Amino acid sequence: MPEQLLSLRNVDPQGDGGLRDAMHRDFGPFSQGTFVDGSGAAVGEPIDVPHFDAVHLEHPDDDGAMAARQVVVPPVVVADPHAAATSLAIATPSGAVHQLNLADLPSHPAVLPPPVRDKLFGSAGARLVFPVIAERFESEDQFLALVEGLRAWIVSKPPFNQDGVGDQLALRALFWPSHPDVGLFGTGDSQCRDRLFFGDRVVAKRLLDPFIGAAPASLILINSTVRGGAGGSPGYSAWASIAEAPFEHWQAVGLHEIGHALGLGDEYLDAQRQNENPATLEPNISAAPRADQSPWRARINVDGTLAPSHPTGAPEVPPGAIGTFQGARYRTDRYRATAHCLMRETTSDFCPICQDHIRAVLG
Ligand SMILES: [Zn+2]
Repeated sequence: MPEQLLSLRNVDPQGDGGLRDAMHRDFGPFSQGTFVDGSGAAVGEPIDVPHFDAVHLEHPDDDGAMAARQVVVPPVVVADPHAAATSLAIATPSGAVHQLNLADLPSHPAVLPPPVRDKLFGSAGARLVFPVIAERFESEDQFLALVEGLRAWIVSKPPFNQDGVGDQLALRALFWPSHPDVGLFGTGDSQCRDRLFFGDRVVAKRLLDPFIGAAPASLILINSTVRGGAGGSPGYSAWASIAEAPFEHWQAVGLHEIGHALGLGDEYLDAQRQNENPATLEPNISAAPRADQSPWRARINVDGTLAPSHPTGAPEVPPGAIGTFQGARYRTDRYRATAHCLMRETTSDFCPICQDHIRAVLG
């Protein structure tokens, strides 16, 4: 049998005797796995089985705001099971052995063939080439039309609608036909919970890295009527379904991720990530409450001596106000420049400070 990717995605936390708890990162990165045959005899060499991982993923919330949640993601076993193997026995650090039926583990080929279509929308010399990958599409034409439409939508938005900026962004459409229910990466509709919608991210990374490994960010486009997406995890693709919702566009999830790829930080609060404290803040985030001490002090149009100019819950803010708005990069002691921005909610355009940065990087 050729090498496969076996996902522990369907392992049931109730029905497996606590395998998820036993395979926790606190106990080390791996447990030991052994393939066994129908009689229970070991076949083949022991393998490392990575542990479950907890990650923070962002998603569009039902009011258009970006939100984030911590989720436990399944490990993926890279193995070449013996032809006689019927199950995988996992010896966890506690000494317990759990036996998983191979037929219950979603399996994927370990490598993808080259894409059926690899088409660039935009200039080959663009400074940012953003890969968009088809998931659950059978029709190449449908997918290519959506990617072309995504680029047209982006270059209608500031600052990409300005001379010399939109030209520097190209979308690279990568098409593999896949099953309309589960796709290449196990992205079935049942994977979507409260708008956090993603497939097997480890499988996707392994399969896509040979084609898009050098790209700073990428988007897996899910052909589904269920609204959702996931992102915010460096090194892994973001996800967005093509389902529309009132007052928002699926395209905005892709553009938010492009914002990250260009170096912008999130402008929303998230209690689970409030302890993150990078050595260097992104250019759209200020640690200084006073607007006249913020990185964008040259652009403010409010009283810069207030700390901050706009605390949480401040009364009506005049449109276009640039100051220090309390709450950014997951914390209440970080500040953003404006009330609204695409780095905060999918219903807004980029704020002037984010636009300045994108122009500086791409223009
Ligand atoms: Zn912004």
